[in-house]
Amino acid sequence: MSEVMSSLRPLGWSDQLETEFEPLRADGLAPARVVAQYRGAYVVHGAGGEAWAEISGRLRHEATTPADFPAVGDWVGVRLRPEGDGAVVHSVLPRRTVFSRKTPWTETVEQVVAANVDVAFLVTTLTDELSTRRLERYLTTAWESGAEPVIVLNKADLCADPLPFVAEVEAVAIAVPVVVTSAETGAGVEELRAWLPPGRTGALLGSSGVGKSSLVNQLVGEERQLTREIRSDGVRGRHTTTHRELVPLPDGGLLLDTPGMRELQLWEADDGFDATFQDVAALAADCRFTDCAHETEPGCAVQEAIAEGTLAGERLQSYRKLQSELAHLERRLDKRLRAEERKKWRTFARSRRKTAW
Ligand code: GDP
Ligand code: ZN
Repeated sequence: MSEVMSSLRPLGWSDQLETEFEPLRADGLAPARVVAQYRGAYVVHGAGGEAWAEISGRLRHEATTPADFPAVGDWVGVRLRPEGDGAVVHSVLPRRTVFSRKTPWTETVEQVVAANVDVAFLVTTLTDELSTRRLERYLTTAWESGAEPVIVLNKADLCADPLPFVAEVEAVAIAVPVVVTSAETGAGVEELRAWLPPGRTGALLGSSGVGKSSLVNQLVGEERQLTREIRSDGVRGRHTTTHRELVPLPDGGLLLDTPGMRELQLWEADDGFDATFQDVAALAADCRFTDCAHETEPGCAVQEAIAEGTLAGERLQSYRKLQSELAHLERRLDKRLRAEERKKWRTFARSRRKTAW
């Protein structure tokens, strides 16, 4: 790997990306990572440092959905303008992981909120706000993105005994690491940092007030204030002061902190299942068969209640919807566990081969 390439290593550049990039390099493009995004403009970080960038007319023309445009965290192929007048993005490399959301005005258009996040810190607190249902939703979001989830139980300083909380969380989050932190005292912050060695990108997700910003400040320290400003020479005066959204940590990794990521929490608006389905669950306990699907089974107390009008049919529908979401989550967990088993096996098989030689 050339010297230029190794300067991109701390940003997450890898041999595999280097290989993927070869055809673009042949076209005269240079690799860079999107570190901030604004209406119509980007800040990219390449081997020569940061530059403002716009997307090429062709990229804009050929984009068929918003997801085809670069997002924070993306690796892109750029061409520098002469005389330090910024860069032009010509190509977006395939994404390893994607956090996306549906645009509010249409159900089907996907908007990429963040690309290539390696670790998703799912932050909640060690106080009675802890909701395992909500955590399941965040887990689903993390699995779907492709990022590795790490559960963070913050505000440890307010909790006399974290162990029951940890046990409760571990019961719903099989094989997911759990870290107990206090952004107030700094406890556990080093353990968090250990997930973000040079080249790795993390992001924090969680409801408002759980301590995400406080944890970011702990992780980034003074650095954030110092590195925030991006020089705006040659940018036609539009962007004067702004901040980067892919923030380097003092010891190597990167933290992705975008407004879009913070808005992901809006997804939990339809949360609150904890108490919501107590009625259905109580009825189901009276069904004749313990594995009753509440469809056409004889002696189904749920269907009886619907027939009598004491339970609304829609209640059963939304109950089912939640159930299938949870089943989906479990399947994903299973899939991931199996994948991890396979990986372990492969590593084992490889090391065996080596010793045999
Ligand atoms: P965010 O909305 O998730 O970014 O949460 P903030 O970082 O803004 O924190 C919300 C409030 O919780 C602030 O008043 C913080 O000072 C406080 N806070 C954050 N982390 C901790 C912690 O570990 N312990 C205590 N006691 N308070 C915390
Ligand atoms: Zn039933």
